[in-house]
Amino acid sequence: MNKGLLIVVSGASGTGKGTVCKKLLDDMPKISYSVSATTREPRPGEKDGREYYFLSRERFEERISKNEFLEYAEVYGNYYGTPLNEIEMRLNCGEDILLEIDTQGALNVKKRCPESVLIFLLPPSLEELRKRIEGRGTETPESLERRFNAAKEEISIGKKYDYVVVNDTVEFAVEKIKSILTAEKCRTDRNSSCLFSD
Ligand code: ADP
Ligand code: 5GP
Repeated sequence: MNKGLLIVVSGASGTGKGTVCKKLLDDMPKISYSVSATTREPRPGEKDGREYYFLSRERFEERISKNEFLEYAEVYGNYYGTPLNEIEMRLNCGEDILLEIDTQGALNVKKRCPESVLIFLLPPSLEELRKRIEGRGTETPESLERRFNAAKEEISIGKKYDYVVVNDTVEFAVEKIKSILTAEKCRTDRNSSCLFSD
């Protein structure tokens, strides 16, 4: 059996990662979403264990010291991390796993797991990005400015990714990601056990 894909999606805040990943997971229920841990406060409607595991700073730092994260990073003043438990075992069982994480975390995952597939989601324009963050209505004016100002720098890191996908419409962005995953599964280096020897 081939190993599962470790799929990493990043993009500036407000690009639509959450929206696009949700539709991808609805369309492809066999892909598992890795729920991250964070020290940020839950937003209205967010549930512990569904969007994130919401931890205190002390508890998060304790888990760092026990090497319980595949990667972690400090983003906008809060910790975010990918729990390590079971990821390796699930990939070896052929399960595809989706991580929606920031650029620092993604590049660390690539170092630890070079076969991971890094996908960078881009907004159609910076004006549209600002509209989307404002339209979501979850940020204070300060936090909106902080996220928007970080966006340009984050976007420039996109060139280190394996793929870039513009989130023009959610449907088209999801279709492009599905095509990437199909192509990745057909790579010769992921199918060596199926190839005839000469
Ligand atoms: P992120 O997870 O990248 O921070 P969200 O998924 O929360 O972004 O999306 C930010 C806002 O933009 C939300 O209000 C969402 O409904 C909207 N949005 C996402 N994708 C699109 C799109 N393709 N076209 C228009 N609005 C979108
Ligand atoms: P938000 O607060 O909007 O949910 O997320 C803020 C940023 O943290 C986003 O760029 C998101 O992708 C990133 N993030 C979420 N989970 C993780 C994680 O486990 N690790 C890292 N490095 N970043 C994460």
